[in-house]
Amino acid sequence: MSFSSSHSDLKQINRLAVINLVKTKPGISRADLAKRTGLNKSTIGKLVQDLIDDLWLAEEITPTLLDGAGRRPTGLTLNGKVLALLGAEIGADYITVLACSINGEILFNTTVPFQHDDMNASLEQLVGLLKHAWEIMAENRHTVLGLGIALPGLINPLDEKVVVLPNINWQEVSIAELLRAKFAAKNMPDTPITIINDANAAALSEFVFGHTQYRRSPLIHLTMAVGVGAGIITEKGLYKGFNGWAGEIGHAILQPIDGLPCACGQHGCVETLVSQRALSRMVTQTDRLLSMDTLQRRLAQGDELVKSGLAQVGHFLGIVLRNVANILNPETIIIGGPMSQFGNHLLEPTLISFVKHSHQNHIQPHIKLCEFGHHAAALGAAAAVLSLHVEPLGTPLHLAQNGLLR
Ligand SMILES: [Zn+2]
Repeated sequence: MSFSSSHSDLKQINRLAVINLVKTKPGISRADLAKRTGLNKSTIGKLVQDLIDDLWLAEEITPTLLDGAGRRPTGLTLNGKVLALLGAEIGADYITVLACSINGEILFNTTVPFQHDDMNASLEQLVGLLKHAWEIMAENRHTVLGLGIALPGLINPLDEKVVVLPNINWQEVSIAELLRAKFAAKNMPDTPITIINDANAAALSEFVFGHTQYRRSPLIHLTMAVGVGAGIITEKGLYKGFNGWAGEIGHAILQPIDGLPCACGQHGCVETLVSQRALSRMVTQTDRLLSMDTLQRRLAQGDELVKSGLAQVGHFLGIVLRNVANILNPETIIIGGPMSQFGNHLLEPTLISFVKHSHQNHIQPHIKLCEFGHHAAALGAAAAVLSLHVEPLGTPLHLAQNGLLR
């Protein structure tokens, strides 16, 4: 692998560096940008003007402050008014599509229940929802930069092909290629498409768009749904592991002896104890999966089975998080996915169990509920599109697509 150093490539990398700095330090001045990038002031001035003209950046006027020369200092922010991102999530029994600004403000969203028995029917439904989102963006004069799709399973990190989605039984398929063909058939715009694992996407939503103050890595985001997965963010971005399997915590084994059978073929996996499926089993004493709507309604009605089920789930979740903290020493652990909607009913027993299983000398991470609720994965898929535009180093595939890899 080698990087070319042509003038246009360097300009592109410099643009990305400026956008990235403005994203992480809203209100930054041109002088500060020059200092932090090592570029001279006139180069920064030109790059910033180009980015303002291209609608990536906006100037923030601060009328009360005057510098020594009597000029009004201006800070730079991302312009959230024109450029937009599309994000989608194929969930175990639903599809979510949303559009957001480059600041992460949600401009449109829709979720429909859907059974993914037939992949073609699922993709047709997804394309219909995306077409509607696109039309709304066009009506509002937003320009769509690209589309990110979050999927519940293993994605090859090099070519973004689906390896396997165990909960909906899709495997060895290029979703992006199939979608491009459907877009062309419906005269929809050709746009960059990125495919990402749902737990990784949810982690990215917090890291890119979250308001949390805990921005130092590592950050762990646990997605608790019918299955369980984790996204791990390090100082270099998403950590995917050697084959893309990093964060598959749902199949870490807690009860090898006498544990319940798991969809993966093992016994006593984390998913059999702390997922929506596990809670359903605790409530019904059968294998019948209860929807989140049903579980939440029964909790609101004071159902003791749901309450005690959540206490059990929290007990095991505290142990899981203790193990995660021991291995990765994260600053923050976020509990997300549909089950985060149980709020303190889930968080409180989790924290009690976490502390109970901690040594007094353990440094405690911040453990909190996800900020974006059931939109996290779709929003994170949109954030992955933004990352393609603003991170100087992407995957080899994205570098090649952007002409940065020779
Ligand atoms: Zn398993």
